[in-house]
Amino acid sequence: MRYDDDARLDPSEVTDTRGRGGGPSGRGGGLGGGGLGGLLPLLLGLLFRGRSGKASWVVIVVVVVGFLAVQFLGGGVTSAPAAGGFGEPGGPARTGTSDLASECRTGADANTNPDCAIVADINSIQAYWSGGGYDGLAATVRGAQPDYTVVDTVFFTGSVSTRCGSADASAGPFYCPADDLVYIDLTFYDQLRSQFGAQGGPLANAYVLAHEYGHHVQDLLGTEAAVRSRQGAASDSVRLELQADCYAGVWMHHAARPSGGRPPLITDISRADLDTAVDAAQRIGDDYIQGRLGGGTVDPDSFTHGTSTQRKRWLTTGYTTGDPRRCDTFRTKDLG
Ligand SMILES: [Zn+2]
Repeated sequence: MRYDDDARLDPSEVTDTRGRGGGPSGRGGGLGGGGLGGLLPLLLGLLFRGRSGKASWVVIVVVVVGFLAVQFLGGGVTSAPAAGGFGEPGGPARTGTSDLASECRTGADANTNPDCAIVADINSIQAYWSGGGYDGLAATVRGAQPDYTVVDTVFFTGSVSTRCGSADASAGPFYCPADDLVYIDLTFYDQLRSQFGAQGGPLANAYVLAHEYGHHVQDLLGTEAAVRSRQGAASDSVRLELQADCYAGVWMHHAARPSGGRPPLITDISRADLDTAVDAAQRIGDDYIQGRLGGGTVDPDSFTHGTSTQRKRWLTTGYTTGDPRRCDTFRTKDLG
């Protein structure tokens, strides 16, 4: 995978808060530091204010264990933590992009600097959706749809405070509909290789972001808001996640093709690149994480993202068809 050396990058689509000690609001440590710090004290405070005794501790333990499980099972590419109910409101300040702005000017920078490659991926993904991909899809959805809006990705380290709650790096990248922002701690890519055993590589990295931008498209089209069942092999949650994988594949189909008379930002995607993206998708399948990685029992009733086979199938469907209308995971009886 190569980027066009002469293509202009637009680093303004990334808000870089790394090294600022917390969330993009500059307040991030306020809800507690890394690890479970952000969410748990607040959650427990809300749940157990004024209560005491043994029963409370039992419930606290259950909540802690449950939270760990959710973090782990959703540890791959995940949608945002459930919006509302916890975390302080207040969006991030749009600052901190100065280094990227000076370092990531062209495709040549993306070919040499991994951070700039991520900037280029985000530019390419949003160029596809705003360049007609979204309109074609929105036209098939009943009722008037909002236009595609370009949304930023926030680079953070450690933990971050969002309108969807606090999250730390272990939760994996996510899209927060309330903020209209994608969040990623870039060390997730190391984790994907070291903990999940993925091959990694530029297209695998881009897939992760394209999946999250798929959630943004779902948010605009009302798909995300229509999700009712949040767990289970055929749940709405699994269908939502598989559709986001399919949308990621659709972007890959178009990423190295000219659109609107403009040359593509990405000049070449090889078979080997594609294999790395499919490999990444399979490494974050629910059955893989629960069984082979976690060494536990595979419980389809607890699935939230789909199996490795299903993730491969829908990513591939998107890539081979290049048509987001073929990503109708909600109506199909056969998820793969
Ligand atoms: Zn997701």
